[in-house]
Amino acid sequence: MGKKDRHALRSAFVTLRDLPGTRVMFWLVQDCPYCGASHLHPAGNLRTADPGDTLGERPAPCDPTRVYVLSLPPKPQKKRGKEARRRERRAGRVNDWDE
Ligand SMILES: [Zn+2]
Repeated sequence: MGKKDRHALRSAFVTLRDLPGTRVMFWLVQDCPYCGASHLHPAGNLRTADPGDTLGERPAPCDPTRVYVLSLPPKPQKKRGKEARRRERRAGRVNDWDE
C-alpha cells in the first residue's frame, strides 16, 4: 500500500453514528464509490477517541484490494462562498489534488 496507489483513491462521504446504549461510534458510508452500498467503519470510543482520527484511507469492505478515503461531506452553507466550493471540489476529486 504505497504512495503509488494514490491515484486510485476515491472519496467516501461518511456520517457519524453511535451504537445506542454504548459509547462506540461508527462512520457510515452511505454510498460506496465502488459498490454503491453502505458500509460501517469503527470510529472508536466516545470516551477515548477522536472520531476524526479514524477518517482517511481505509480498505473498502466490499473489495479489500481497493481503498477509499473516509471524508466528511461538505456541510450545507448559509452562503456558498469560494471556500465551500473549493472544499466540495477537493472532496469529490481527491485524486486531482496532491498536497
Ligand atoms: Zn462498497
